[in-house]
Amino acid sequence: MVEKRVIEDLIVLGKSVPSEIHNGRATVCTAGYSYELGLVRLYPTNVYSPLKRWNIVRVPVEKDPQDSRFESWKIQGSKREWTRLHEKIEVVDQLHRSERQKLIASMVDGCVLDLNYERRSLGIVQPVIEKCYFKEEPNFDSTAQQELFGGFKPTTKKQYPEYPRIRYRCTECKTKTHHDQQVLEWGFYEWMRKNPDNIEQVWENVRMHSDDREKYFFVGNQRNQRTSFMIISVLTFKK
Ligand SMILES: [Zn+2]
Repeated sequence: MVEKRVIEDLIVLGKSVPSEIHNGRATVCTAGYSYELGLVRLYPTNVYSPLKRWNIVRVPVEKDPQDSRFESWKIQGSKREWTRLHEKIEVVDQLHRSERQKLIASMVDGCVLDLNYERRSLGIVQPVIEKCYFKEEPNFDSTAQQELFGGFKPTTKKQYPEYPRIRYRCTECKTKTHHDQQVLEWGFYEWMRKNPDNIEQVWENVRMHSDDREKYFFVGNQRNQRTSFMIISVLTFKK
């Protein structure tokens, strides 16, 4: 039997740029925190959902037999009821602005490698930025089409010619050199889609180079590449 439960208090912390899975569905990975369960990954979620950052939602979930990561869940009936999956998510509250940084700071790990050693698939680190840059998308496909979703056609990751990456060290970094990870946060890609001539602005949008900001990365690994971590969400707060 697949384990089922209802998460009553999922605080949404980040959403990835949509990617395409078979039969043309655009899927989003949503990640957050529950006081009951700790860090949680919800996958797949559809592009149209009330899963906005800092919303606290109630959502019925089940384990995915294909994904053994402790933090991973999918919404109950996600395949059968794909087009109305968002109706199962109930927004119950929003985390107050004054509580946000406190929550994130309470979960910081010294280094991404600590997560790896402990077989965890999600975590939060505080980066010391070395370089922010763009790299050519190896799977770029300008012809890729997604099915219309309520009149909205999402742009998936491989429809962007470039994608953002960050080279950084953590506060107690255990790598000899640095981490160099791709940024998956959907907000970065939305800016790039709307402002193709000014994609560099994505770094300034989150004040990446401002000294008056505390910066946190919410990182997660890939199901089929457990040692490979990516930045799901960039969280910055005024000091
Ligand atoms: Zn590190």
